[in-house]
Amino acid sequence: MKKLQLIIITILALYTQPSVAKLNIFTCEPEWAALANEIGGNKVKAFSATHGKQDPHYIQARPSLIAKIRKADLLICTGAELEIGWLPLLLRKSANKDIQPGEKGYFITTSFVKLLDKGGIADRSRGDVHTSGNPHIHADPRRLAQVAEKLSVVMQQLDPNNADYYQQNSQLFLDKWHEAIIVWQTQAEVLKGRKIIAHHKSWIYLANWLNLEIIAYLEPKPGVAPTTSHLSSLLKTSESQQVDMIIYAAYQNPKSAKWLEKRSKIAAIELPFTIGGNKQTDDLFSFFDDTIKRLVGAVK
Ligand SMILES: [Zn+2]
Repeated sequence: MKKLQLIIITILALYTQPSVAKLNIFTCEPEWAALANEIGGNKVKAFSATHGKQDPHYIQARPSLIAKIRKADLLICTGAELEIGWLPLLLRKSANKDIQPGEKGYFITTSFVKLLDKGGIADRSRGDVHTSGNPHIHADPRRLAQVAEKLSVVMQQLDPNNADYYQQNSQLFLDKWHEAIIVWQTQAEVLKGRKIIAHHKSWIYLANWLNLEIIAYLEPKPGVAPTTSHLSSLLKTSESQQVDMIIYAAYQNPKSAKWLEKRSKIAAIELPFTIGGNKQTDDLFSFFDDTIKRLVGAVK
């Protein structure tokens, strides 16, 4: 019996031994680590600088993150100034030439899709954080598919020995993804034209995809904390219009949403916003499953 066990262990060891180092990927947000894992499978090791309960606009460029970014072969971040407060510093401190802007290992997802809210007049001195187009593209699975196609190509270039693997894996993922999109769209039929008040401009791509109407925001400007006077004006808006729900992200303080919910009697719904935003959301598929389930649940 012992001998048999030994043989099995030896065979397993032979087959599971890593022949080459994995592609080391540093991502800024969990959704990109999840996408990297979908395409890269067991050939990559993906790390996310932020987690689902964190606001990706504002984090500290901690020494532990510098240690991680230093070893990265590939950097995947959202861009469109989402990480402007912390990524440039991390990149400078990384002393890693492979992932600097312009290099093959510098992958900015918003570069590969059409951005909404682009070209609007914004004033960052007044706290407006979205001055070069809305960065929250991951809430639209169609845009995510566009990013996946580009990412697969970059992985093939960076790790040519495994190019076939990335190509096949990304195709498998995209096939499954496009099927899932059809299912989500069917589930979300009931949401068409629904009026929503959102905490931050986090879901304009989701709204664009599913034909939701986000009529107002709890933040008076993107990145500016809700004020009592602004919330009072939203209360008036909600009385004059048929608003179906108030939505906020798991990482956001629910206080303002709850304030409005209490007075307007419109349900405030917490959404995961990304992978790890709640217990149900552990990959890209469950992220959309859960988001749509919560939205549909609010109108039923
Ligand atoms: Zn934002």
